[in-house]
Amino acid sequence: MKHPDYARDLRGRGRQPPHAQWPGGARVAVQFVLNVEEGGENNPLHGDATSETFLSEIVGAQAYANRHMSMESMYEYGPRVGVWRILREFDARGLPLTIFGVVTALQRYPQLLQHFIARGDEIANHGLRWIAHQAMPAEQEREQIATATALMQTLLQQAAGSNANNDAAGGGSTIAACTGWYTGRDSPNTRRLVVEQGGYDYDSDYYGDDLPFWLQVQTGSGDGELHRVPHQVPRLVPHLVVPYALDTNDMRFVQAQGFNTGEHFFSYLRDAFDALYAEGELAPKMMSVGMHSRLLGKPGRIGSLQRFLDHIGRHERVWVCRRIDIARHWTVVHPFDPATAFVWQ
Ligand SMILES: [Zn+2]
Repeated sequence: MKHPDYARDLRGRGRQPPHAQWPGGARVAVQFVLNVEEGGENNPLHGDATSETFLSEIVGAQAYANRHMSMESMYEYGPRVGVWRILREFDARGLPLTIFGVVTALQRYPQLLQHFIARGDEIANHGLRWIAHQAMPAEQEREQIATATALMQTLLQQAAGSNANNDAAGGGSTIAACTGWYTGRDSPNTRRLVVEQGGYDYDSDYYGDDLPFWLQVQTGSGDGELHRVPHQVPRLVPHLVVPYALDTNDMRFVQAQGFNTGEHFFSYLRDAFDALYAEGELAPKMMSVGMHSRLLGKPGRIGSLQRFLDHIGRHERVWVCRRIDIARHWTVVHPFDPATAFVWQ
């Protein structure tokens, strides 16, 4: 149990983190995330009080009490157009993705989910809705996580059935597993609630490291709901965190102090990769790249992705993988150790 006197771990693994021992002696594990949020965002159509304001071409958009039609159509560019442009680049190079899938977004476009599964992409759960959870009561967030988990399972079963009936998809009838979680705009309760839900190999609601790490998550506490879940007694549960990143992320195309052009995004990704590649001679790390179809899928930005994929393609010993591959590798090679895992409460 590490420094239980303070609820945060400012030290991590310190000056000498563990050697990742990536497969094939890779110097860096590059992990591309494609977020699918469109159809799960704030919209009075979905029962929300106001329209969406976040991560669109309208920086600083107002929240309207009725539908915001231009905002909606900017979101629709993602699943209608941008996603196919991005997938072409990964198809051409035979590279896998992790999909951060908002469940109500995937629900509105099951053929897209089928396509990801046929490609062999990992489907991770990005929550029931693409909304902020900071002020959500714990009991409501618990129910949303439970609903998101069950609904995702149903969608994956349906996708397997559809792919089995469609030889061209090539996905067979195997039901894809969804064992990764990322809320995004999470709350102080999120990690505990995800662990209490169970069935997840990792979550990615963390930005403070370049390597996965284990926690001991204190469950069955915090919101006075113990009487409703009698099987939940306070206990410490081993839990893996696979960190994500918001700097090497196309969301900065639409934020203040962000990337103005694809050249900015490309050079930032290249610099991050080159630094990690150099470090990786002695201390390999992981690099997360976050993508959104409605942003990076625009013609003026896609070249930055092409150039970055070409750049890493010119290097030996790079492991381009899914997030679950990193989680599985870490679980086997760097298993949970209660002596070093921080207690998360
Ligand atoms: Zn997201």
